[in-house]
Amino acid sequence: VNCGQVRNLLHAYLDGELDLVRHLEIEQHLLDCGACAELHESNKTLRDSVRSEPLLFRAPPRLRERLQALPDEPAPRVPSSHGRRYPWPRLAALAAAILVLIGAVGILSPVLFRPPTAAADLLEREVLASHLRSLQVAHLTDVASSDRHTVRPWFTGKLDFSPNVKDLSREGFPLVGGRLDYLDNRAVAALVYQRRQHTINVFMWPVGPGVGEPANTQRQGYQLMHWVQSGMHCWAVSDLNPEELGQFVGLLQSDAANK
Ligand SMILES: [Zn+2]
Repeated sequence: VNCGQVRNLLHAYLDGELDLVRHLEIEQHLLDCGACAELHESNKTLRDSVRSEPLLFRAPPRLRERLQALPDEPAPRVPSSHGRRYPWPRLAALAAAILVLIGAVGILSPVLFRPPTAAADLLEREVLASHLRSLQVAHLTDVASSDRHTVRPWFTGKLDFSPNVKDLSREGFPLVGGRLDYLDNRAVAALVYQRRQHTINVFMWPVGPGVGEPANTQRQGYQLMHWVQSGMHCWAVSDLNPEELGQFVGLLQSDAANK
């Protein structure tokens, strides 16, 4: 065997994974060849140091105190269908401790700390799901009216904001009505417009701290358009073609239309 072959097998040799003949060959080579023997020694040192170094990080004192301060007994029993009790506080504390340790090591940082895309993706799914649900469960509108002076006041008292309801019937997008919906962990206004046989849902809610980027996307054959206007998130969802939906969104965005 030559040096190159030996070096390819050094790790397997160190781990005792070679067959007897190979093992003896390498053993012999290491006796004869100083360079390979040196490499083998450094491999061995590295392995031993990895084995002996504590790879477990100590929790910061404050976290330890808080964990120790947790009651031993689980919270008062809540009747559940399973009839079993879980030590939730301890599990949660353990999970938190594990997350802290993982975070400290930083292994997962590229995965965990990418919320913008993940959150945007989740919100898009939510928006589309709300649109589809509104079509399926015969619950398209809570207030069925083509009159924005009926639809807009209907939201009063049901939301902590007042959606801007525009009349676009002359432009070929008649208002059908409105309803309450739930997106992004809050109650939102859903305005329903029509274009021929296509339904358009427009979701609106006030912009929060993490303002999403305007985006036009396609999911499962539906168009989703997101923009921010007058401090509101606006989403338009429909199976209408992108050109006409874009025209519709342009009308909603224009100040020229009625307010
Ligand atoms: Zn050698």
